[in-house]
Formats: sequence, structure tokens, C-alpha cells
Amino acid sequence: MAANGEVVLTLEKMNRIGAIDRQALTISVEAGAITEAVHEATKDAGLTWPVDFASKGSSQIGGNLATNAGGVRVIRYGLTRNWVLGLTVVMMDGEILRLNGALEKNNTGIDLRQLFIGSEGTLGVIAEAILKLCPLPESERIQVCFFALRNFAAVLRLFSEARRAPFTLAAFECLSDGCLREVVRHGVRSPVEPGTGEAYVVMEVETEDASAFEAWLGGIFDWGKETGTPPLVLDGTLALSPRERSEIWSIRERVAESVMMSSEVHQQDLAVPIASLEAFFSDVESRYAAAYPEFEVFVFGHIGDGNLHIFIRKPTAMASADFHTRCAESDQMLFELCRKFAGSVSAEHGVGLLKKPALPFSRSPAELVYLRALKSTFDPKGLLNPGKMV
Ligand SMILES: Cc1cc2nc3c(=O)[nH]c(=O)nc-3n(C[C@H](O)[C@H](O)[C@H](O)COP(=O)(O)OP(=O)(O)OC[C@H]3O[C@@H](n4cnc5c(N)ncnc54)[C@H](O)[C@@H]3O)c2cc1C
Repeated sequence: MAANGEVVLTLEKMNRIGAIDRQALTISVEAGAITEAVHEATKDAGLTWPVDFASKGSSQIGGNLATNAGGVRVIRYGLTRNWVLGLTVVMMDGEILRLNGALEKNNTGIDLRQLFIGSEGTLGVIAEAILKLCPLPESERIQVCFFALRNFAAVLRLFSEARRAPFTLAAFECLSDGCLREVVRHGVRSPVEPGTGEAYVVMEVETEDASAFEAWLGGIFDWGKETGTPPLVLDGTLALSPRERSEIWSIRERVAESVMMSSEVHQQDLAVPIASLEAFFSDVESRYAAAYPEFEVFVFGHIGDGNLHIFIRKPTAMASADFHTRCAESDQMLFELCRKFAGSVSAEHGVGLLKKPALPFSRSPAELVYLRALKSTFDPKGLLNPGKMV
């Protein structure tokens, strides 16, 4: 955002996508290339750049790198920074840095390339990158399921079971019942009725052995029958075709826009260690219920990465200004909880201007001193994204 009349730089015309190096499994792209265009350019070679999220049709590689974007398959592939070999960066004084080239290994000291990834354009302008590619999983190896669960504790129990199962977990995403209601209200088909459970999971796995996976699924649906304990999964479905897979995925992908469609929404994007997710979620739920009973709270996110998105919708009767004041108060409560659980006040949406005041909840004073020192070394006049992040 250019909040103070800054000059805005667009790289949208720097969108060249080079040839794939099939031996090294890399591709060279200019920073303005659209994420989805890179996916399209690599898929015929049976390869992909495995950074994937709902905004891939508009986001640029430079933006993905500058925000170290996450997405729906972080649990399988990790963050953007794992998928970059080389960077070309233009510094504020016009100097061009070519960092790491096409080297997989380069142990010549501190890796400057990684400083620019996630720096939100505060240190230099990324002009070009050599991206690492990986094999595109064969369609027949992918299984996608949708589960309705009793509550958030059951979601985490299912996650533990899936982690120990004999397949590769590619995504484990969750949404609350309120989110499902909104998505369905906006025309997305759901295999289960809203109201079936308190929470739902979209799970994608890669497996060589479909029958072993189906046996595991059977065990999950039969959970507790022998011991008489409550079931883990209340209802669910396994996609039987690519079309059904994309229908299930569209439930998860349409949450944010569906919730935002009918009223003003305040958003938070937080992370805590997975071991603390259940306690964190329970604190969030009880504190909102006690202090902000008028708020409609929507929770969804990348459970497998310990990352929750919390959206609060403005009550119809509340004035916009009151809503902002109350949300600012409730943010402090959330940030305190992040500190309590050693979490992050920004899991994947960066810092920018909005999260800058909240940084001390996640970063120590000593860290902030070093971050400011880095900024003034790379951009001494503070001209790049002025006032952002640090
Ligand atoms: C519907 C939706 C879903 C999303 N889901 C996810 C998700 O699941 N996971 C996730 O991590 N993120 C998600 N995001 C956010 C996503 O990471 C960012 O939108 C995307 O990675 C940023 O790319 P962009 O081209 O839009 O960058 P912009 O928004 O244009 O810029 C982002 C930042 O990067 C800087 N920047 C941009 N280009 C360069 C460059 N060439 N050199 C230096 N700095 C640069 C900008 O100055 C700015 O600070 C989502 C966003 C939307 C809208």
C-alpha cells in the first residue's frame, strides 16, 4: 500500500518465463510472472513449482518471494524459500546483486538470498529468480477427502492419526461450521450439510496404495465403535474423480471471499506451535465468547502448519468506527495469546504497516535492533517501502 504518496513500481511487464532445465529441475523467471503461469509452463513437463494458494491467478513470483508465501501444501513442501535457488536483486542505489545463481550447494558464508525472501520489498527489488521444481504428483496417486468433525479437538486428533498413517500428507486444512455455512450460502456444493459438525477438514494425500488408504479411512470412520467412545468423524466423503476433488477444494478456497461478501470483516492470521494449537484455540474461543459475544467469529486455516485465520464480521447494528475500536482491542488479546504460546502475530500475510506495531509480541527487542540494522545497511536512506515492517 502506498499510504503516503510513495512512487509505486510495477513489474507486471517483466513476466518472462524461461525454458525448464530438466536435468537440474529449475526454471528461470522474471519477477512479474504470475504464479499460475509458472504452474502452467511447467505442468506439461510433469513438473511444478509447489507454491499454491487461492490468489495464484493474480500474484506474482516477486510478491511470493518477497512475502515468503505459504499456501495449502506447506505441510508437504515447506515455504517458498525452500523453492528458490538464485535471485537477481536491484538495490536502491542501482547496484545489481546476483545471488547464488543456479547452485544447489554454496557454503561460502551467510546466504544473502534468504534475507531478501520474506523481506517485503524493504531491502531491494527482486527482478528475477531461478526456481526449483519438483515432480507434479500423478493424478491417480492423489486422494482428497472432506470430513465433518465434532469439534476442534477431534480435528487435531484426526491430524495426529493422519501424520502416523502410511501415506504422504499433502494438505490438512480446516474450517469452522460458520465458514461452511457461508460458502454454501454463496453457491458452493458441500458433500455434508452445514450443522453436521463444529469443524470440517479438507485432507489431500499422495499414496501409491489406494486400498491401504481406503482401509485407513474405514478405520477412521469406525473409530470408537469397539470401545463405545464417541466417533472421531461424524460424516465425510472421498473424492472419486478430479471434478469431485476440485469441488472439495473449492469449499476451502472460497471461505475468505464468502465470509467477506456480506459485511465488513476484520482479519487475523496467526501461528502457534502445533503442540499448542488446541489450548490456543480453546483460549481464543472462550475469550471471544466472554469479552466479545456480539462478534461473529470465523476460524479456518492451515492446521497442519499451526496457522489459523480468524475473521470477525461486523455485527449489522454496530457502527463501523466502534467495530474497528473493538477489533483493535481484541487483537491485543490475540497477540497476548500468541506471546503466551510462543506463536507468531503473522503466519503468512507479512508485516507491512498493519502488523508493525504487533511485532514485539513475536520478536524480541534484540531481534528488532538487528532487523533495523539490516534495513539501514541495505537501504540507508529508507526509500524502499518506507515505514513498513521495521
Ligand atoms: C485469496 C487469497 C488467498 C491467499 N492465500 C494465501 C495462503 O494460503 N498463503 C500465503 O502465504 N499467502 C496467501 N495469500 C497472500 C499471498 O501470499 C500474497 O497475495 C502473494 O504471495 C503476494 O504476491 P503479490 O504479487 O500479490 O504481491 P503484492 O501484494 O503486490 O506485494 C506483497 C509484498 O511484496 C513486495 N513485493 C512485490 N513484488 C516484489 C519484488 N519484485 N521485489 C521486492 N518486493 C516485492 C511488495 O512491496 C509488498 O510488500 C493469499 C492472498 C489472497 C488474496
